[in-house]
Parts: sequence; C-alpha cells; structure tokens
Amino acid sequence: MSDYILVLDEGTTSTRAMLFASDGVLVASAQEELTQHYPRSGWVEHDAAEIWDKTLKCANAVIPKAGGAAMIAGIGITNQRETVVAWDTSTGEPLTRAIVWQDRRTEPFCADLRDAGHEAEVQRRTGLLLDPYFSGTKMRWMLDNVPDVRAAADAGRLAFGTVESWLVFKLTGGGAHITDASNASRTLLMELAGEGFDAGLCDLIGVPHSALPAVTDMSGSLAQTDAALFGREIPITGLVGDQQAATIGQACLSPGQTKATYGTGAFVLTNQGETIPQSTNRLLGTVLMQIAGKRTYAIEGSVFVAGSLVQWLRDSLGILQEASETEALARSIETSGGVTIVPALSGLGAPHWNADARGVITGLSFASGKAEIARAALEAMAHQTHDLACAFAADGTAWETLRVDGGMAANNWMAQDLADMLGVPVERPDFVETTALGAAMLAAAGAGVYPDLESAAEAMRGKTKRFTPNMENAVREERLTRWRKALNAV
Ligand code: ADP
Repeated sequence: MSDYILVLDEGTTSTRAMLFASDGVLVASAQEELTQHYPRSGWVEHDAAEIWDKTLKCANAVIPKAGGAAMIAGIGITNQRETVVAWDTSTGEPLTRAIVWQDRRTEPFCADLRDAGHEAEVQRRTGLLLDPYFSGTKMRWMLDNVPDVRAAADAGRLAFGTVESWLVFKLTGGGAHITDASNASRTLLMELAGEGFDAGLCDLIGVPHSALPAVTDMSGSLAQTDAALFGREIPITGLVGDQQAATIGQACLSPGQTKATYGTGAFVLTNQGETIPQSTNRLLGTVLMQIAGKRTYAIEGSVFVAGSLVQWLRDSLGILQEASETEALARSIETSGGVTIVPALSGLGAPHWNADARGVITGLSFASGKAEIARAALEAMAHQTHDLACAFAADGTAWETLRVDGGMAANNWMAQDLADMLGVPVERPDFVETTALGAAMLAAAGAGVYPDLESAAEAMRGKTKRFTPNMENAVREERLTRWRKALNAV
C-alpha cells in the first residue's frame, strides 16, 4: 500500500527529508547542512539553488527506503517561514540570494512605514507588525536593489515565494507557483481574512501582485511532482510554515490549545479557532490552517533568544562542553543565589519588542559560579514564557496546558521549571520532531490516508510525558520580582 509520507523539512540551518509510516513512525531520514551567508552585519542570505539541490539529494536518499516513489502517498513540505526567494519563471533559476527571516536590512523601510502611521492598520488587517522579520519588505528590497529582479519584474518573468513555494515550483518542473495560507500570512501582503494577496497591501509595500504565488489550502491535492524527478508523479499534499506545523504536530487542533517550541528562539502559538486574533498586547495574529477553504487562526509570541543563550554559555563563555550539562548544573544547587539573566542578546521580542535592548546579568556575588549562571539561564526561559503567558491571558487566551518541543525542551529541569512558574501542566511528546510530524499529518490527511486531520493526528501522535506544577507561591513571586527588576536594567 502506498501510504508512506515524505516530509521535506526546510530549516534555517539544514534541509531534511523524512519518511514517515502512516502511524507516524519515522522510518528514514537524510539531512544536509545549508551554507549561511552573512554579507554584512544584520544580513543573512541563503542560496536557493543550494536549497533545491540538497532537498532533491535528501529526497532521493530516502525514497528507496519506502520501496520507491510508488509507495509514497504524498509529500508534505514545511519550511523556515518569511525567507524570500526571487526567481525567473523562464529559466527556473534564482535571480539573487534568498533573504532569510532573520535578516534586518529592511528596518529603515519599516521605520518609514511606521513613521507614516501605517502600523495600526497593517496590524489590524494582517495580524503582523511592521518589522523586517516579515517577507513583504524583503521582496521590496530586492526590487529596489537587485537590477536583475527589477528587470524580470518589468519583463513579466519575476516570481517571488517563500521556500515551500520555490520548492513546489522546482518539484513540479515549473508547473505550479503556489504558496500555502500559513506562509502567505507572514508576508504583510495578505489580510488574515482575505482569500489571496491584497492589492492595497501590495501597493503599500511596493510588491507587484503579478509576481506573487496563488494562495492555496495547506492539505489536499495541491500539486504533482514532475514525473521525470522520481520516476513517477508524487502528489504534494501538505504545505505549512514550521511553527504552524509544530502546532499541528502537537495536535493543538482545538481553540485554546498551546504549544511552545524551544530551539534557537522560542515560538508560542495558541489555537484561536475561527476567531481572527486582534492582539492588544503586541502579539501576532497568523493563519494556523486553511483546509477546504476554511481558515483557523493562531495568536503567536516569538522570543528571540532561547537555546542560543545556552549556546552562548558554551561557545562564548566556555563554561559548558554540551548544552545538556545545564540540567545537572541547575539541579546541583537549590537556587541561583539571586543571579538573574535577561537574555536580550539580540533585543527583546514579544511582548516587549525592544530591538535596542541588550542582555544583563544581575545579582552576582563571589558565591556565583557556573552552576548559578547555568541555572539562571534556564530560569530565564520560564521568565520569558511567563511574560508571554501574561500577554496571551490579557488578550483573552489563558493557557491550561503547555505542550513543549524543540531541542531545548529535552531539558527535564527546564520543563519542570516551566510548569512550576506558569502554574500549568507542561506536556512533552517522546517524539520531539513535531514540525516534521505536523507536515506529515497534513500530507497524510491531504493524500486521503486518513479522512481528516483530526484522525491523522490521533493516529500519528505518539506518547507524551507530563510535568505537573509543584512550586510554592512565595518562591514563584520572588523569582518574578527578581526578573522584573532585571528587565528594568536592559
Ligand atoms: P533549531 O531548530 O532552532 O536549530 P533545536 O530545536 O535543534 O534548534 O534546539 C537546539 C538549541 O537547544 C540549541 O541552541 C541548544 O543550545 C539548545 N539545547 C539543546 N539541548 C539542550 C539541553 N538539554 N538543555 C538546554 N539547552 C539545550
């Protein structure tokens, strides 16, 4: 039976192909690192041709393990969101390097738009803030600064897309120029409730509507691969941005259910059902799903520094060999001895949105050693998440349980501390590749392996471990008081 699902997981630092059986078990995977280009401070670029070549290489490495292309029911693609590729539709080749989501080069343009008073309306319509993070201003930058992009636009040969859109174009031999609604909702160019890209928003940002892909569902028969690639056509049945994928992979399919992914940064999404989010607390509104034309939404809070703080302790301070040592160090002492870290190493994200903030460590004494620093680093994750929890609650979305994943969520001390500080149970799946799993669920439902996404999630989600809150109020209050004092020092 052809019921394997092939997931192409397009991360920031690597591209992977993962083969799932229909019960959600990972059967095979292949991975290739992606070259990161940093041409200037604050600029981050990828080579889109390299992304395609490595994706194809990884796919070809795992397809034989299913017994060939005929055994694959559908392909799901999940991707680093907001990264923009520009290509020439006549040659099928990129016109310039892709601008990566982390890139800050469009801040002056965003500041101009903010100064001109556009932010409130843009937020109301798109759920987003005028920040370089989102893809629309990156497209505008390419048009203004890369002559080949402008020339292709003038000649009607320009295509813009996020990474899933680029890969669908290549996988279909240039036959399809589409994007899914979750990726489209990160561009600043689509209204949360709008069917496709919005002409008025395109005019405001300065992006030609004609260069943009068609906005599609995230699950279903979305496109077919070129038969020449894998020996036969394979249907592409799932397309989804990485954070939405993780939310689905954690089976947060009902309103109020929340997941937090702790990787380099931390991304928290709460399912809002069919209600269009309107945050008054600097959180983002985003499309969670579009299936059979029906949309559901999520409210999102992004923290810039999570696991990268632990990386900094390891690589810059040199007080760790491995990130995982933080767990034993944190357990080796009763408290951090008053040491508090605000990890604003690249500014503060939600809900503070302070780009100029820089990190601080407070409460140092001669008794402070590496255990105190490591514990304070892990405590900072719960502190940052607590700030988000307050913003979500103020927006009317209090969390009942928090489902965690990402590399850092492997840390048991941190998972327990999160439960303690938030005062809600924390659940962690044994299989932590929730992003790939979410794409697999969408693709399996889209291929008809399951009748709908709920059944796919039921069948494919594995076991979870639960961390129950167990902290005295006084201890929690003391921690939060210290944190708020330290925040005032950034
Ligand atoms: P990304 O997908 O953003 O590349 P991952 O989900 O792979 O990130 O998570 C890796 C991050 O998590 C690294 O920054 C690392 O420092 C941190 N990390 C990994 N394992 C642990 C651990 N056991 N304790 C604390 N931090 C960890």
